[in-house]
Amino acid sequence: MKYLSRILRVVTEQLEFNYHSLCRTLKLSHLCFADDLLMFYRRDRVSIKVLLKAFATFSSVSRLEMNCDKSEIYFNGIQQGEIDYILSISGFKEGNFPFKYLVIPISYKRMVIGDCTRLVEKVVSKLRGWGAKKLSYSGRLVLIQAVLSQLHVYWARIFVIPVTVLDRVTAIYRNYLWSSSDQYGKVPSVAWDALCTEKKFGGLGIVNCRLWNQALIGKYTWWLSCKSDHLWIKWVDYVYMKGRNWQDYVPSLQSSWTLRKICAVKDIFKPGYNLNQWCDGKYTVAAGYRWLQGSQTKAQWAPVVWNRLNVPKHSFIAWLFAKERLLTKDRLRAFGPPIDGVCDLCAMHTEDHHHLFYQCAFSIRCWDILRQWLSVSLPTQDILQWCVKWRCRSLLKKHLFFAAVVAVLYNIWRVRNLCRVDMIVHSPIQVMKEVKTSVQARFQSRTWPSKYQSTWIF
Ligand SMILES: [Zn+2]
Repeated sequence: MKYLSRILRVVTEQLEFNYHSLCRTLKLSHLCFADDLLMFYRRDRVSIKVLLKAFATFSSVSRLEMNCDKSEIYFNGIQQGEIDYILSISGFKEGNFPFKYLVIPISYKRMVIGDCTRLVEKVVSKLRGWGAKKLSYSGRLVLIQAVLSQLHVYWARIFVIPVTVLDRVTAIYRNYLWSSSDQYGKVPSVAWDALCTEKKFGGLGIVNCRLWNQALIGKYTWWLSCKSDHLWIKWVDYVYMKGRNWQDYVPSLQSSWTLRKICAVKDIFKPGYNLNQWCDGKYTVAAGYRWLQGSQTKAQWAPVVWNRLNVPKHSFIAWLFAKERLLTKDRLRAFGPPIDGVCDLCAMHTEDHHHLFYQCAFSIRCWDILRQWLSVSLPTQDILQWCVKWRCRSLLKKHLFFAAVVAVLYNIWRVRNLCRVDMIVHSPIQVMKEVKTSVQARFQSRTWPSKYQSTWIF
């Protein structure tokens, strides 16, 4: 490809070759990526002949032939007679916009919702493949963060994606997290914006599609303000800005839709630039994203809920517990059809968050067993806040203790659901045995230095 580039550079220097009007200043005739080649030229017979001659020279030396079946030529604003002539001498097929390049649709027009159908379809097809699997909330959360978000991010780092598409993708993520399906099936327990904050701020760390797209495009606005040495930056500078200051640049109505959207992102970031937010000369997408999220308050309970020795599915339920968003009967009665509000575990009191986890005879017995087991005094409310303040010299002991508390919360909720839905009753002793087993298994799943091998907790 280097040799081909050299040939193209030589032939396009000839007087008879005409660059595309938007590429003339930069003398841009082609772009190469691996074995893909994109070429640009003015719509005339002479220029195409110059290019074909360059290909012929390349083939005669390298013995490599271009594949006309895989090559397409795209026209805009040209008469049919000229199109027919160019097709006949080149042997290319006529292509239509948008065409796909590295899975991304390329078009000279603004991106419309239909161009992003592929993105939405890809997200839905991935998700339907997992739909049959019975995954916990935490399992679905991992898939959203590790797989689904990456599909959207790949597009978002190249385009300003229409807001309607971003909202559709967000709705799919939300439906999958709460209902295990791409279709709406359940009222979300927590507002989506609250989920999109980092775990230390009380969220789940899921990417906010709109803000992440802005943060990614913010990279281009930063490059433009720094006049970075990138071909695209030079192109925008020559074609649109013409040496003007990027910070003050206002796009004309004739400017492309994409450039106008990028300028809108620049205006969002302007206060950050003015405050020297990136005064060290480095813009990172993560830093831009955090800045867009604004200042947030730390969640005191986060180290307990997201403690590394917790079982992930325990952490998720503990997170809902911390936010008091578990669907206890008092909440179900407020949102749904009328149901009896009696606690299924004791059949004596009204079920609400405080009763279920602190005042129910079943829960009291569970906490008692934990108290005896760990030889610590436990509070009768705000258990997570108490855990944060609990002083312990050994960090490992502290992590194990957090894991045990979170496991108790998860199991109280699990047993309550089994009792309510399947009429299966468990005893507190049985439940606490399971708590102990799960914490022990979590501890043993990791390799520890020999000094930690003593079994303080077991
Ligand atoms: Zn009860």
